[in-house]
Amino acid sequence: MAELSEKLRRTIRDVPDFPKPGIIFKDITPVLKSPELFRKVIQAFCDRYREKGVTAIVAIESRGFIFGGALAERMGVPFVPVRKKSKLPYKTVSATYELEYGTDSVEMHADALGQGDRVVVLDDLVATGGTAQATARLCEQLGAEVVELAFVIELAFLHPRKKLSKYPVFSLVTFD
Ligand code: AMP
Repeated sequence: MAELSEKLRRTIRDVPDFPKPGIIFKDITPVLKSPELFRKVIQAFCDRYREKGVTAIVAIESRGFIFGGALAERMGVPFVPVRKKSKLPYKTVSATYELEYGTDSVEMHADALGQGDRVVVLDDLVATGGTAQATARLCEQLGAEVVELAFVIELAFLHPRKKLSKYPVFSLVTFD
């Protein structure tokens, strides 16, 4: 784990002032460009959740889909996409969360999960934790249990675990 964490730390690219001034964007495309590293990321999540009775992987658009799709396929469990407002075609449930200015919503198909489901919520990165918290609430609205919130990258200096204190949180690399 420590080795993978260090490899990720060295590979993830910082892009200053994207998408707006003051934000340092953590670019995961160099990770995706290395089939060996990408495989190790998916394997690390797979090893962690294989024996936990997980029935679905819930991933957040859009970079979460890259890791979530690969993990669900590897684990042989359903993949559930969570999207921003008005993108999903069928009946949806929705959860709203606070942004720095205003609010945003995430949605999931109403028949995506149900009672008895045990899910891992996965995204590429957790910053304030607002998106992951809203996604966990969607899962719970449909009767599912959230086993863990999982991320490739955790921006620990934004203290996402405070907001997510109700759930176990796991990340492969942390930036302090
Ligand atoms: P948050 O709801 O604040 O935890 O933000 C998490 C979402 O925003 C994730 O889907 C991330 O992909 C994206 N995000 C936030 N901050 C960054 C960043 N510095 N670099 C890359 N993606 C980010």
